[in-house]
Amino acid sequence: MRAIQVAENGGPDVLKLVELPDPVPGDGELVVRTEAIGVNFIDTYFRTGAYPKPVPYVPGSEGVGIVETVGPGSSFSPGERVAWAEANGSYSELVVVRAASAVPVPANLPAEQAASALLQGMTAHYLINSVYPVAAGDTILMHAGAGGVGLILTQLAVAKGARVITTVSSDAKAELSRQAGAFEVLRYTDDIPARVRELTNGEGVAAVYDGVGKDTWEASLKSVRVRGMVALFGAASGKVDPIDPQRLNALGSVFLTRPKLGDFTRNRDELLWRAGDVLNAMSEGTLDIRVGASYPLTQAAQAHRDLEGRKTTGSIVLVP
Ligand code: NDP
Repeated sequence: MRAIQVAENGGPDVLKLVELPDPVPGDGELVVRTEAIGVNFIDTYFRTGAYPKPVPYVPGSEGVGIVETVGPGSSFSPGERVAWAEANGSYSELVVVRAASAVPVPANLPAEQAASALLQGMTAHYLINSVYPVAAGDTILMHAGAGGVGLILTQLAVAKGARVITTVSSDAKAELSRQAGAFEVLRYTDDIPARVRELTNGEGVAAVYDGVGKDTWEASLKSVRVRGMVALFGAASGKVDPIDPQRLNALGSVFLTRPKLGDFTRNRDELLWRAGDVLNAMSEGTLDIRVGASYPLTQAAQAHRDLEGRKTTGSIVLVP
């Protein structure tokens, strides 16, 4: 099978196309032939070594495809269509997926949308349902509003009756964020806390969802209301500085969390609940997963270059 491999940490050029033996499924595992593969910002943290991972490895954790072979004790059959958000080595023609991580996907859902629905979709889902359960009438702040998670979270929060303030870096991204339902779109160069206070009668937002990190962190802390929630869920611009807990007291008994998807898909029921909500919202038309760019698997390096260069919008995928 053809796959992308990282043999040393570094820039996008370390993503190399290689030929590897076809995998064989073990107990409770499936081997799936990929139709499309989700590219996520976290893939760049592993590639650079910001998140450690032993090399060599095949990157990626998300995709959609058709089950080819099944190991003993797995509840799927060859020919079924499944998607997954947590299977190592997804940048490949064939991927080993634990049956416990695989979710059935309707045949009519386009592969490129299905490939990006689960990781980014379930992240948006746990952020607005479990980290801070967004209620009708809440105002929230979401950074990188035109990114993969950003466009999805905006739509899901608006559907719950929230007002979503977003930040973006360009006019084109602002337009996309507005189309997703953002109530106000700010630029990183704006005085974000001041604008947020203007838009919330001086109160601040109920929750800030910050996947940008270093560059937006101060603004995030200063934009949240008393007893509000700051969810730092990524670091697209770099890691934030350590924080003194007393700062949270001074800001107004603010809650701070650094969550990850795996802790919010702890068992099969939780996985199927979140995935089901996302897939249902897609089929009902209340959630439009925007695939901003699709690249051949061989062009994985270019996909990473564009993602890190802030050139992409919405979700991006690789096609084998
Ligand atoms: P995006 O599509 O949102 O891409 C990242 C975006 O961040 C860019 O498009 C850009 O938008 C913005 N950005 C701001 N500053 C920078 C910078 N210096 N360099 C690069 N980008 C920057 O990616 P994803 O949707 O895949 O992920 C969004 C965030 O969510 C990431 O931090 C990711 O790690 C995190 N994440 C966390 C999960 C969790 O469970 N903890 C799960 C999934 C994702 P703009 O140009 O508008 O600023």
